[in-house]
Amino acid sequence: MSLNKKTIEDVNVEGKRVLCRVDFNVPMDGDKITDENRINGALPTIKYLISHGAALILCSHMGKPHNVFNDKIKLNKKEKAKIEKLPEAEQAEATAAALEKAKKDVTKLSLAPVAKRLSELLGQEVIMASDVIGPDAQAKAAALKPGQVMVLQNLRFHAEEEKNDPEFAKELASMAELFVNDAFGTAHRAHASTEGVTHYLPAVCGYLIEKELRIMGKALENADRPFVAVLGGAKIEDKLNVINNLLEKVDTLIIGGGMAFTFLKAKGYEVGKSLLDESKIDYCKDMMAKAAEKGVKLLLPIDTVCAAGFPDPIDGPVDTTIVDSDKIPVDKEGLDIGPKSRELFADAVKNAKTVVWNGPMGVFENPTLAQGTLAVAQAMADSDAVTIIGGGDSAAAVEQMGLGDKMTHISTGGGASLEFLEGKTLPGVACLDEK
Ligand code: ADP
Ligand code: MG
Repeated sequence: MSLNKKTIEDVNVEGKRVLCRVDFNVPMDGDKITDENRINGALPTIKYLISHGAALILCSHMGKPHNVFNDKIKLNKKEKAKIEKLPEAEQAEATAAALEKAKKDVTKLSLAPVAKRLSELLGQEVIMASDVIGPDAQAKAAALKPGQVMVLQNLRFHAEEEKNDPEFAKELASMAELFVNDAFGTAHRAHASTEGVTHYLPAVCGYLIEKELRIMGKALENADRPFVAVLGGAKIEDKLNVINNLLEKVDTLIIGGGMAFTFLKAKGYEVGKSLLDESKIDYCKDMMAKAAEKGVKLLLPIDTVCAAGFPDPIDGPVDTTIVDSDKIPVDKEGLDIGPKSRELFADAVKNAKTVVWNGPMGVFENPTLAQGTLAVAQAMADSDAVTIIGGGDSAAAVEQMGLGDKMTHISTGGGASLEFLEGKTLPGVACLDEK
């Protein structure tokens, strides 16, 4: 995938209607925004566009709503499965209740509170459309003047958005003369608002995507060395795949967190009740062989913090023991890397010139099990390397530790950054115009 993409600075936006895909998928509590980082993240692109005379139409998804603009709201698979498990006599009533709840998505997942907050942050009016491609949005877009801003309603209120329906994309595009994508978090999905619209409009990236491509692209194509990648966390099925590509690029690969145990198992060790993906044991063996063949240093935890089980609640008290990683008792679960591993990993990170980190080293939500994650985060903060964080929980861990501004780059898209590191083409980036 070529990363040489046009940005908003490469095109003339003056007097143009610009459709800009942003990530306004912020956490809500009722109609209160509980974390407005994503709105703030979009501001540089928004401010550039309006100060250069664009009439700006912003669009985003929020949450996973139902198809609320359709008369026949349908329940999703998860809801259906839940209802099918109920006794037959209760199913009709449960279905009706779930449908009633689904209709509330219109208010619960509305982007109106975001438009309101954006208006405060920009110090100017922000016009809210009551629909996405319907008559209200069309009329408001047509009346929009240079420097004005409007927000379309939640894109995913239309099932056509995620299906990348060409008619839907065409109508969305018809409101504008230029498309800007600044939502890296959805760039790994070919949806109507990320890929579909680019069939009808010239398409460039905003500042957020530009930064992701510049910093992560350089790490993958031409990293300052030594290049160290640190992988951890719990989503093993997703993450093990990235290892194959990273072994082509890095000098050292560190594996901790829940991911490590499939490797330890592949080495023939007992892992007790620890997180394990049986189906990937052979893959891990292949990856260890590949690392040896390529001369890549593969570091696994040499000691492990164990407990009788996963803490409940997650931040509740927990009794731990520290054992060497080849001596995990059958009835214990490994929940963090031990002190010897912390030192080993931190040393490798400190001597690096580029570090990419995705996934915590342990159950960092629990203070007793956060030491491994803290050690890696601190080593990254102390080093003069280019430091890149991908992954929602890793980013949260770094922020929680107050080390966010010591990092070069915290990616705005967990899944997208992982697919980028895997060497996959991101459809929402590939479709943007070349310089
Ligand atoms: P990210 O969001 O950074 O991509 P993941 O979502 O893959 O990371 O994983 C984060 C979760 O992994 C955290 O909630 C953390 O508690 C959990 N985790 C880390 N180490 C372990 C472990 N050894 N066992 C179980 N869960 C773990
Ligand atoms: Mg996560």
